[in-house]
Formats: sequence, C-alpha cells, structure tokens
Amino acid sequence: MDSNRIEKAVKELLEALGEDTSREGLVDTPSRVARMYEETLHGYNDNPAIHLGRTFEEEGSDVVIEKDIDFSSTCEHHLMPFFGKVHIAYVPNGKVVGISKLARTVDVYAKRLQLQERMNNQIADAIMEHLSPKGVAVVVEGEHTCMTARGVKKVGAKTVTYALRGEVPSYVLDLLFAK
Ligand SMILES: [Zn+2]
Repeated sequence: MDSNRIEKAVKELLEALGEDTSREGLVDTPSRVARMYEETLHGYNDNPAIHLGRTFEEEGSDVVIEKDIDFSSTCEHHLMPFFGKVHIAYVPNGKVVGISKLARTVDVYAKRLQLQERMNNQIADAIMEHLSPKGVAVVVEGEHTCMTARGVKKVGAKTVTYALRGEVPSYVLDLLFAK
C-alpha cells in the first residue's frame, strides 16, 4: 500500500468535489484517510495459516460453535463500510483451534476490499483447509452503509449469507441461526 499516493488521491478527490483542502477541517484529511486504510485494509498482510496453523488434538467435542464475532469490512463497490456478526460452527475431525483464532481469521478477510458473499466463502474455505473438519457452516449478518446511507436507505436492513462445506448436522444449523 502506497500511503503517499493515497494522500495525493484523497486531496485530488476533495478538490474534485469542489472543496478547499487548505481549510482547517480538511488539511489533515488526506493523511488521516491514508492511516485509516492501513488499518481497515491490513488483512492483505495477514494470512489465515498464521492463526489456523496451530491446531491441537481434541476428540471430545461433536461441534464447536462460535457466535457473534464482530466484524467490520469495506464494500469494494462503494468503498463504504459494512459490518455485523459472523457465526461459525464446525464439526472437528480430531483437530481444533483456540477460539480467538476464529475471530482472527474473520479479520484476515474482513480487513480487505470485500463482498460479503466472498468473505463468507473465504472464511469457510480457510477453516476447511487448515482444520480439515467433517464440516463447517459460516453465517454472516451484515449491515451495508452503502444501502443505509445512500441508495435505498433502509436503515437496519441486514444481508444474511451462508456458506456450508462438508457435513454439518441440521441441529447445528438451527443453533447457528437461533437468536
Ligand atoms: Zn456497496
């Protein structure tokens, strides 16, 4: 990521919008936006193998469910945030990971320019690849500011997507969707 170019581009954008970039409120905006992208797009420098690579043997559990993992991401169509919750269930095949690693895996993919559907698939595929579970189900509930702040302006509308890999018992799916 080239912070200097981002700063120049944001200044250019502000000028194209007819703004005076020397006024007090805007003078630091280009550098602020550049720093913001370093944070909100840091997932390109991260890799699920770092978080999911360290597994341990566990025979005890039929299913592992981690609900309500917060995420915020950036819609690649409008460069506006979308955010919400990710719920993950997997059926271990001898290997499990520390619970926090699932949340870190969500961030690997959320902190990129994204589409909710693709992020959902990437999280499910990473868990399949690194944990080799019998099955995994990932539900994403997202609120898209490109829908709530512009366009159809439906505040509170949620987009729910769902990715299933392998075999997951139906009672687990009921638990995932339960409020
Ligand atoms: Zn959008």
